[in-house]
Amino acid sequence: MKIGCHLSIAKGYEAMLVVAESIGANTFQFFTRNPRGGKAKAIDPKDLETFKEQLESGEWGTLVAHAPYTLNLCSKTVETREFGRTMFLDDMNRLMNFPPLYYNFHPGSHTGQGVETGIKQIVEALNDMPLANFPGWVLLEAMSGKGSEVGSRFEELAAIIDGVEHNERLGVLMDTCHVYSAGYDIMNDLNGVLDEFDRTVGLDRLKAIHLNDSLTPFDSHKDRHAKLGEGSMNAEGLLRFVSHPVISSLPMILETPNELPGYKEEIAWVRQKGE
Ligand code: FE
Ligand code: FE
Ligand code: ZN
Repeated sequence: MKIGCHLSIAKGYEAMLVVAESIGANTFQFFTRNPRGGKAKAIDPKDLETFKEQLESGEWGTLVAHAPYTLNLCSKTVETREFGRTMFLDDMNRLMNFPPLYYNFHPGSHTGQGVETGIKQIVEALNDMPLANFPGWVLLEAMSGKGSEVGSRFEELAAIIDGVEHNERLGVLMDTCHVYSAGYDIMNDLNGVLDEFDRTVGLDRLKAIHLNDSLTPFDSHKDRHAKLGEGSMNAEGLLRFVSHPVISSLPMILETPNELPGYKEEIAWVRQKGE
C-alpha cells in the first residue's frame, strides 16, 4: 500500500522524504508553490539531486505535486484565467526536471459562465500546455461541486479529457470527501460508483486518491475534510474503499485536519486495518 499525507515544502525536497519516513509514509503530496498562488521558490539544485537519488533508492509510491487552489483556468475574469495558465505552465516546466510524478489540479470554477463554457476554457488551456513532453501525469481532481466548481460529475471530467489533444497522460485524482459530497455514494455503493467512473472516464485514468472523511453530509456539495472515521463517512466504509482491488494499488494521500502525529496515527490505522 502506498500511503502518505500532504507535507510542507518549506524545508525543501529532501526534507519531505525524511519527514515522510518518520511518519510511516511511502508517498506524499506537496504544493508546487504557496497554495494561494504567486511566485514559486527557486529550487536548490543540490536539494533536487539528493531528493532524486533517495527517491530512486527507496520504495516510494508516485508523489503528488498539487497546484495552488487559486489556479482557475475557467474564471469569467480573463486576468484570473491568464494567471492560472502562467502558474500551470511554470509548474509544468519546473516538474519537467523531476522523476515522473502526478501534477494534480482543481479543474476550476466557471464563476457564472456555465459548466459548458467552463469545460471549454479548461480544454483550451490544457491544449496550450506542454502535455506531450511531460514525464509524469497531469491529474484533474474530482471536486465536490461547491459554488460553480467544474469537475464534480464524472461526465465533466470525461468531457475535459476527451477535448484535450494530448490526453495520453491526463488522468483523475479521486478525493473521497469530494466525490461523497458530490453525491457518489462510495460508502454504500462503491462498486456502482466505480462502474459509473469506468463507463464515463475509464478506470485506467484513475491514478491517485485523496483520502479524507467529510464534515458535511452525503450529497451536500461542500468541501470540508474530516479526520478518518470522524465525519459523515464512516471508518468501515473508508477501509472497504482503500482495500478495494481497483483502489488499493493507487497512491493515497491524507488531507485530513492533522499535524504530523495525527497523520502518523491515521497512516498506521489504514495500513493495519486496510491491508
Ligand atoms: Fe485538492
Ligand atoms: Fe483533495
Ligand atoms: Zn477538498
